[in-house]
Amino acid sequence: MNRTPLSFEFFPTRTEEGRKKVAITRQQLRQFNPEFFSCTFGAGGTTRDGTLQTVLDIMAEDTPAAPHLSCVGSSPEEIGDILNTYRSHGIKHIVALRGDIPSGMGMMDGFRYANELVSFIREQHGDWFHIEVAAYPEYHPQAKSAQADIDFFVQKCRAGADSAITQYFYNIDAYFAFVDAVRAKGIDIPIVPGIMPIASFSNLCRFSDMCGAEVPRWLRLKLQAYGDDTASIKALGLDVVTDLCDRLLSQGAPSLHFYTLNQAGLVSTVCQRLGY
Ligand code: FAD
Repeated sequence: MNRTPLSFEFFPTRTEEGRKKVAITRQQLRQFNPEFFSCTFGAGGTTRDGTLQTVLDIMAEDTPAAPHLSCVGSSPEEIGDILNTYRSHGIKHIVALRGDIPSGMGMMDGFRYANELVSFIREQHGDWFHIEVAAYPEYHPQAKSAQADIDFFVQKCRAGADSAITQYFYNIDAYFAFVDAVRAKGIDIPIVPGIMPIASFSNLCRFSDMCGAEVPRWLRLKLQAYGDDTASIKALGLDVVTDLCDRLLSQGAPSLHFYTLNQAGLVSTVCQRLGY
C-alpha cells in the first residue's frame, strides 16, 4: 500500500450540472485518501465566486481544501477581501500565484509577482494560512534565464511559502535538478511534483506550448503516430505517467499533486497502478 500523500486539483464549474459532475469525480478520488483537494482561480478574479463555492463544497464533504488565489489584475483591497472571506470560512491552506496577465495589457498597478502576494498574506494574516507557491522545473515561459527563475523562486519562498507545487513535466531530471538548485540556496520546503495525465495529443501540445512544459521528442512522436486513436494515446499516456510517478516516489518526491481537469478516470488508474 502506497502512503506518500496525494492531492488533486480541480477547476470551478460554471453550471449546476457541472458542479454535480465534479462532486462525483471528487467522490471517486476520495478513495485515495487525499491530503487535500485544490481549486484554481481565474486571473483578475474571474472565478472568485466559483472557486469559493467549490472549496466550500469540498469542505462540506469533509476533505481539506485549498483555494488558489492569483493576484495580477486585482487590487490589494480586493485580494484582502478574498483572504478575509477565506479565513471567515475557516480556510487555512491556499495556493498563492501571480496568474497570467491578460494579452494586450501591460504591467498593471497592484501586485506584479507572486512573492508580493506571499508577503502581503504574511503581513495581513501571520501564520494563519499554509501557503503553497508554484515552481517550474523546466522554467517559467517568461523567465529571463534559468538562474533568474530560480533566484525569484527562492525570493518567493523566503517571503513565506510553506511548500510548492510544480508545473507538470515529463523530464524527471528537470525536477531533481531544480530541487537540487533550490536546496543549494538553503530552501528546504517540500517541492511537490505536479502530474498531468495524457488524454489528448493536441490538447497536451497546446497546453505545454503555453505553459513552457516540454513534451519530449520521443513521446511527442509516439503520441503523434497514433493519430485519432484516442485509446492508444491514453494507454501510452498511462504507462508514461505511471512510470514517471513511480520514479519520482522511489527517488524521494514528498507527495504528488494531480491536475485532474475535473476527470477521475486516468488519475484513478495511475493511483491504482502505483499501489494506492
Ligand atoms: P511568479 O512567481 O511571480 O513568476 C512569474 C514570472 O516572473 C517568472 O518568469 C519569474 O521568473 C518572474 N519573476 C518572479 N518574481 C519576480 C520579481 N520579483 N521580479 C522580476 N521577475 C520576477 N494561474 C491562474 O491564473 N490560476 C490558478 O489557479 C493557477 N494555478 C496554478 C497552479 C500551479 C501549481 C502552477 C504551477 C501554476 C498555476 N497557475 C495558475 C499558472 C500561473 O499563474 C502562471 O504560470 C503565471 O504565469 C505565473 O505565476 P507564478 O505565481 O508562478 O508567478
